[in-house]
Amino acid sequence: MTLSQKPLLIGAHTSASGGAHLALLEGKEIGATTVQLFTRNQKRWDAKDLTQEEIDLFKQTLEETGLSHIMSHDSYLINLGCPNEENLLKSRTAFRKELIRCQSLGISYLNFHPGAALDSSEEACLDLIVESLSELSDLADKGPTRLLIETTAGQGSTVGYSFEHLSYIIERLDKKIPIGVCIDTCHIFSAGYDLRTPKAFEHTFAEFDKIVGLKHLYAFHVNDSMKPFASRKDRHAPLGEGEIGMECFKLLMQHPKLKTIPKYLETPDGPPLWKKEIALLKKFAEG
Ligand SMILES: [Zn+2]
Ligand SMILES: [Zn+2]
Repeated sequence: MTLSQKPLLIGAHTSASGGAHLALLEGKEIGATTVQLFTRNQKRWDAKDLTQEEIDLFKQTLEETGLSHIMSHDSYLINLGCPNEENLLKSRTAFRKELIRCQSLGISYLNFHPGAALDSSEEACLDLIVESLSELSDLADKGPTRLLIETTAGQGSTVGYSFEHLSYIIERLDKKIPIGVCIDTCHIFSAGYDLRTPKAFEHTFAEFDKIVGLKHLYAFHVNDSMKPFASRKDRHAPLGEGEIGMECFKLLMQHPKLKTIPKYLETPDGPPLWKKEIALLKKFAEG
């Protein structure tokens, strides 16, 4: 099989409510070749342990659907750079459990929001994140899961909105635990990295390559942005209907180094829209 015949890895954040395997089935229905999911209720601290039955069902469904490169999105409550000790500890415990769940399901990527500084400094926050992730090094070789730092829009006191933040974390962890980056197109645009024209697009990815390194880029969240350029606001729009515009997504699917990287839609309207957008992205890749 030549490279061009390999199926493109495009999917969306499908629903795991009622069982993690259901997210895979929903993906299959909308023409996805991969999906992102929550392995647990993302708005609660406590999560039930997975049963062997659930793990087996997930793995069996994975095989039946032929999906691959599955990504988990961590709970929104977790802040690995939290200055409050009690919440930091809670976050670290929940994140460790999440990684173990991902490993037992055979999930490829665990995407996480790096953290928020709250009343501390960005540097203190980044150092805490590094420390939190270092503590997971004993799990590094226990499963196939790679941790992916999600780029943020920089809303509030969140870190991860600049490429320098990402390289700061990666440089300190590269040898300890499998780590990488997931670029959210909406978030980096809102954070001030332009993607609207071929020239701006090239410039942004050249910057990323220079500061972080394209070899650390493992996934994309593919979203347009409801909010203007450099607004530091995180509101997703359907592809082509936001401030970024369709050109960016065409460039993404035609770029020789970026087209084969797994992509997950988080656009607002759910499965009917995703089905159309997946088909559209595939069409763009054909040229
Ligand atoms: Zn996210
Ligand atoms: Zn977002």
